[in-house]
Amino acid sequence: MNDIKGDIQQLKATLSITEVARTLGIQVKGGKFRCLYPTRHANGDRTPSVSISESRGYFNCWVCADMRGDVIELVQKARACTFFEALNWLKTEFSLTSGVDTKVFLKTEAHEDLFQSKKEPDVDTELKNQVIEAFLSYLIPVENTPAARYLSKRRIYKVSWDSMKIRYISNYGELNQKLIQEFGLDLLKQTGLYNDKGNLRYYKHPLIFPYYDQNHRALFFQARAIDSAVFPKELNLKGEIPHPYNVRLLNQKPGWIYLCEGVIDTLTLLGRNMDAVGIPGVKAFKLQWLPYFKEKKIVLSFDQDEPGKEATKYMQKVFDAAGIQSVEFGYGIHDERFKMKEGQDVNDWFTQG
Ligand SMILES: [Zn+2]
Repeated sequence: MNDIKGDIQQLKATLSITEVARTLGIQVKGGKFRCLYPTRHANGDRTPSVSISESRGYFNCWVCADMRGDVIELVQKARACTFFEALNWLKTEFSLTSGVDTKVFLKTEAHEDLFQSKKEPDVDTELKNQVIEAFLSYLIPVENTPAARYLSKRRIYKVSWDSMKIRYISNYGELNQKLIQEFGLDLLKQTGLYNDKGNLRYYKHPLIFPYYDQNHRALFFQARAIDSAVFPKELNLKGEIPHPYNVRLLNQKPGWIYLCEGVIDTLTLLGRNMDAVGIPGVKAFKLQWLPYFKEKKIVLSFDQDEPGKEATKYMQKVFDAAGIQSVEFGYGIHDERFKMKEGQDVNDWFTQG
């Protein structure tokens, strides 16, 4: 019984309650939606009373005591169904085949800090997108910056800098001021670009990897430190990670895709003319992303250390459950010289020449 409990915990941690609400046909705006019991509210709840906490996976109506709960309860309420019917509906809607081994969800712990951001007022999505696009447009290409050396050392060259539009913050102070003048501090804080002290977060993380979507818009990015003393090495933009890195390759056409953990590994493979797509980390993989991978066969290209092996096993189960074929990196290579060695990481393996 504990197993089922764990599975459900994991399911809840993996699904975005906002996405689930939308899939149920509920209109979510600014983290709120109209109560499913509109007659109990003034004006049919024209001003939505139900708030969603994306980080806690919880919804709550300020008026109705019985209109609150987790993602499964939301499905139960919206579809007037039982707990198990709700579970089945979630599995079907989020691309898990009906015979899914729910133990898939047990393997990794929910890596909460990747999903959860501190409570901040919700900001209109389009407004947020405009701020991010402006921010990216003020950055410079990495050529002739310290980032160029950093990337070259990892065998990531100009072709990739250009094609993936990698950027660099060359004048932090100027950029900091410019954005404040243009957008105002409140909005910048709400979008997650600025910290509580009122400064752009990326003082120590000047290397910026935009996540371009299928429409060539970047509404998400990762910032990386090039000084090895800085921890953490990477900062995500707060909020939901909308899709994998280099998602344009997930074009619904049959073919092989190398799936990497992290932007650096993805770029390393891309530099070798391999069709690589990145996820920020296995624990940040979202089941909602599975439809992107339909039609593809996946080569799981994770490090050959313990976490990498765990990640490979976990992702194999996730893809299996969704009916998507995946193999380990090096599958079919029988010559030991070309296999990745025990403990080796992807970037090292490629940079050894
Ligand atoms: Zn209500």
